[in-house]
Amino acid sequence: MKKWNIAVIPGDGIGPEVVSEGIKVLQAVSELNPAFAFDCAYFPWGCEYYAKHGKMMDDHGMEQLRAHDAIYLGAVGYPGVPDHISLWGLLLKIRKEFDQYVNIRPIRLLSGAPCPLRDAAKEDIDMLFIRENSEGEYAGAGDWLFRGKPEEVVLQTGVFSRKGTERIIRYAYETARSLNKLLTSVSKGNALNYSMVFWDQVFEEVGKEYPDVKTYSYLVDAASMFMIKQPQRFEVVVTSNLFGDILTDLGAAISGGLGLAAGANLNPDRRYPSMFEPIHGSAPDIAGRGIANPLAAIWSVSQMLDFFGYPDWAEAVLRAIEQVLTDRDTLTPDLGGTAATAEVGDRVVAALTGLV
Ligand code: ATP
Ligand code: MG
Repeated sequence: MKKWNIAVIPGDGIGPEVVSEGIKVLQAVSELNPAFAFDCAYFPWGCEYYAKHGKMMDDHGMEQLRAHDAIYLGAVGYPGVPDHISLWGLLLKIRKEFDQYVNIRPIRLLSGAPCPLRDAAKEDIDMLFIRENSEGEYAGAGDWLFRGKPEEVVLQTGVFSRKGTERIIRYAYETARSLNKLLTSVSKGNALNYSMVFWDQVFEEVGKEYPDVKTYSYLVDAASMFMIKQPQRFEVVVTSNLFGDILTDLGAAISGGLGLAAGANLNPDRRYPSMFEPIHGSAPDIAGRGIANPLAAIWSVSQMLDFFGYPDWAEAVLRAIEQVLTDRDTLTPDLGGTAATAEVGDRVVAALTGLV
């Protein structure tokens, strides 16, 4: 039987606190399901490591990670270490070098999770965001001309390659087809007259290969409005790097907040490991107090199980989270409760055990 090798990077701040709860749940799944086994290797990288060694990870870090089936990441970043160092030295480096070009963010309002929308709108919040994760507006291309002079001009270029655009859109069509759901593309062709016109064109071209998939296109401004007013309009959504970044934070806000928002960075070709993480940061304001919400980190474990090919167990973990959410007493303070991080993890394990 295959034993899955998981590289664990607990990282900074609340990262280690929430990751240990995720591993706890993974451990429970392996005990309940004899067909699932895993090994963990821990890598102490992040800002503390940077303070000691002047770098975010070991020089041979990428080679070490490469030997694993998946990476489970807590959070990186801490006050005193500039964002561009913590991000580019680890998180973005991994995403880029392992060609994790798909960023999956489920925006699903589980029953019991808080939602700021009025009742009519929150009936059916269940979207799967597929965000382009390798180029676009975050390609780092641009120029800074005449710095400090009156004629100063700054350019930030969005890079949309044929290969990069086609592969994310094709991945989205495949996903929508397999789930039998509506596929919505979010772009901005009326104002971004090169990149988004191209995006819309590729969306239409690739769509010819998927005549069975129903599609819709929104401008990003309209999409932001409808995500609040009528979120049930969205099922599978594909969008560019920048728009995906912004819309999924909006999505997190309407589906329980940062403490519940999970993300997967996938290399669908499986040539390199994929990476699973809660989308929140290291939250230095609450770090070390044992009150961080571990549910986002646990949800990303569910995504990992799905990617490994255990969809029933992925769903069971979500059901367990949902059960815990309905009990106010065992929630962390961000969700209005008084429970500690580890208690929430224990409750998820208990719920999971009761479910199977
Ligand atoms: P970073 O610089 O690493 O992104 P940050 O200070 O921006 O860290 P975030 O994690 O992005 O912090 O979240 C912002 C705030 O939301 C935190 O300061 C914290 O109060 C709250 N928060 C985020 N994640 C959680 C969580 N898992 N549980 C409870 N509160 C959280
Ligand atoms: Mg942040």
